[in-house]
Amino acid sequence: MNILILGAGQLARMMSLAGAPLNLNVIAFDVGSNSIVHPLTGEIYTQTLEQAIENADAITAEFEHIPDDVLTLCSQSNKFYPGKAAIKTGGDRALEKALLDKTHVKCAPYQLITEKSHLLSAINELGKPLVIKTCQAGYDGKGQWRLTDENQIDTIWSQMDAFIQSGTELQPHTIIAEKMIPFDREVSIIGARDKHGNIALYPLTENEHTNGVLTLSIAGKEMSALTQQANDAFIKIAEELDYVGVLAIEFFDISGTLLVNEIAPRVHNSGHWTQQGCHCSQFENHMRAIAGLPLGNTELKHITAMINVLGQAAIPTAILHVSDLTSHWYGKTVKPGRKMGHINVSANTLNELAEKLSLLTEDLTQESYPGLFKAASELLIK
Ligand code: ATP
Ligand code: MG
Repeated sequence: MNILILGAGQLARMMSLAGAPLNLNVIAFDVGSNSIVHPLTGEIYTQTLEQAIENADAITAEFEHIPDDVLTLCSQSNKFYPGKAAIKTGGDRALEKALLDKTHVKCAPYQLITEKSHLLSAINELGKPLVIKTCQAGYDGKGQWRLTDENQIDTIWSQMDAFIQSGTELQPHTIIAEKMIPFDREVSIIGARDKHGNIALYPLTENEHTNGVLTLSIAGKEMSALTQQANDAFIKIAEELDYVGVLAIEFFDISGTLLVNEIAPRVHNSGHWTQQGCHCSQFENHMRAIAGLPLGNTELKHITAMINVLGQAAIPTAILHVSDLTSHWYGKTVKPGRKMGHINVSANTLNELAEKLSLLTEDLTQESYPGLFKAASELLIK
């Protein structure tokens, strides 16, 4: 079976690696260069996007910010999962909030902003501090402002206005202001829905962000009080979108109540731990769902931590002596702060995991792996 993925980054790479044993041949469309490429080697193929769509048995996407005409072309083929509407919703915070409101799933109080007076009324009605986000084009904490004091209004507004003005009639730019949520922690649910409406959910993941970027995820901590809320939200959202594939939902946990932060209509960084922590990874389950195959087992096999490797030229080989550690390298050109790879570490107990993470702190620096150091120290205290 031939699978075409829109986007040629690490998520396409890992979907391709998961699809190969299932006899799924994956090619990727690099939206930047407008070419069809091999998702592992980057080799450029001569076929056009139209030809790749024609040859594909199923089409999917690894990210949300895809030109509208490309989404329309894929949509017209009737082979595109989770489909144009789901991708559009995940790529626009205003559509995302409208979906949450429609399905009665709780999220942070918010206001949409298209002119300066809206910013002033957001400050009045939501209070300070505010987290202000571009509705389109943001990722990894980019396209965001934190407003804590009125004296920031003019500076932040001029940047917001520049974003709004850079929109076009076809792709208008809007902004959202959210109340800054004093959360206890962040968690996410990853799950898959197949073409018949069957749903398989992974256990909740606890996530640590540093400067807006995910640095660490841990699965296997006690979360039974939150699971039902997360599962309910997932089912409502996935059913409303008639979703096929893997979907991720990020939440804030405030004293046991979950508020949705955002929805990702794709495999997600906070689900990378499933490669070693579960029988069937999120990548394999996404491939299975879109290919019309039965979903795989999503139960926890091992307590697992995932540590992102940001802006490093390589993963230090010294850490490979830690048992049950797996290195995943994306083969990208290094840039400061860029997601270059990740490390999964599995254990039988949280104590054992803490010991392994502590071992890692001997070879990795706190500056480059902040989530690791936090988790190692917090898990050891408990
Ligand atoms: P990514 O695509 O990597 O998930 P993003 O750029 O889409 O990130 P968000 O997930 O919206 O951005 O925000 C990044 C992080 O900023 C969140 O994980 C959270 O730590 C913090 N954050 C976002 N919104 C709020 C809020 N309303 N209150 C408190 N913290 C917030
Ligand atoms: Mg996020």
